[in-house]
Amino acid sequence: MKALPPGSTIGILGGGQLGRMLAIAAAELGFDVHIYTPEANSPAARVAARTTVAAFDDADALARFASQVDVVTTEFENVPADATRALVTAGARVHPNPEALAIAQDRVAEKNFFNACGIATAPYAPVDSRADLDAALARIGAPAILKTRRLGYDGKGQARIATLADADAAYAALGGQPAILEGFCAFEREVSIVAARTIHNAFAPYDLVENVHAHGILHRTIAPARVDARVQEQAAGLASIVGDALDYAGVFAIEFFLMPDGSLIANEMAPRVHNSGHWTLDACIASQFEQHIRAVADWPLASPQRLCDAEMINLIGDDVTAWAALAAEPNSKLHLYGKHEARPGRKMGHVTRLKR
Ligand code: ATP
Ligand code: MG
Repeated sequence: MKALPPGSTIGILGGGQLGRMLAIAAAELGFDVHIYTPEANSPAARVAARTTVAAFDDADALARFASQVDVVTTEFENVPADATRALVTAGARVHPNPEALAIAQDRVAEKNFFNACGIATAPYAPVDSRADLDAALARIGAPAILKTRRLGYDGKGQARIATLADADAAYAALGGQPAILEGFCAFEREVSIVAARTIHNAFAPYDLVENVHAHGILHRTIAPARVDARVQEQAAGLASIVGDALDYAGVFAIEFFLMPDGSLIANEMAPRVHNSGHWTLDACIASQFEQHIRAVADWPLASPQRLCDAEMINLIGDDVTAWAALAAEPNSKLHLYGKHEARPGRKMGHVTRLKR
């Protein structure tokens, strides 16, 4: 395959802030971007050359999109894998590939995949009925977490089970959707690795980072993670195994629990740029967004080297009203996503504080 020349068009499925930051990075490398999203007036559409507003199951719109772009990528992991398969059938180059997307969309398939790669996960069992939940709890025990298999994000679609007495309420909370029971990991901290890979096996991991969640949503990322160098190496090694196994092109992230004994337990992977990689915009030679565009355009990867330590704070909902004060901070970089309504829990922007 040949590197896409500047002037080519990169199609992005999804119109959120990740698509917006990808579109800006693509523009800096001389590409045009065509956003495909069901949402009118999306954050990404407002910085892109073209937009198609259509549903992800609109076969005609997908076929037209396939003929108008030179490569297709995704910014949203819940784009139906079938939509990407339809694009491949229509002749489009799609990175990452539909199978990688399909695995990451189903928490059971994802954990089966990690284990098949020799990567540890929490103990887990699929739960398709109330009886399955009892059987799973008998095997895994409490505390545990019941999660929907699909479509969960920002901690939505999850119910904690502290003791067996919570089982009924947890099952009811998920409304009978296909689910997974996971044993609770008493982690020391949460870390994630963001890495880029090309179909020619080039691999460029960023430094491992540390994540603090609040109300189920990422609140703060500390780069680099305050961990032993061996943990960083181990995480990069695991990411390399995952990238190879998926024959992956693009940026992806793996979230881990760092256990008190220093071992890493994989929680989930994201087949896309990741919120815990936003600090790379301001503190690395090349950001995760640039790396992703390079990878899907089949360009050489740039250096992921960290130029300084950093901390990223998400601006959720009303946090964004502090924009003027944040904009005045020395050594900080403010990024706003152009969302007009600051609903509770909505990611409105982020700020990166550079540590020199
Ligand atoms: P996000 O979109 O923020 O990545 P998500 O909805 O996909 O979240 P998870 O990442 O699986 O869901 O879980 C959200 C958070 O809940 C985790 O970051 C972690 O703090 C906690 N958590 C999830 N699973 C477990 C577990 N098995 N043991 C302990 N804590 C867990
Ligand atoms: Mg997560």
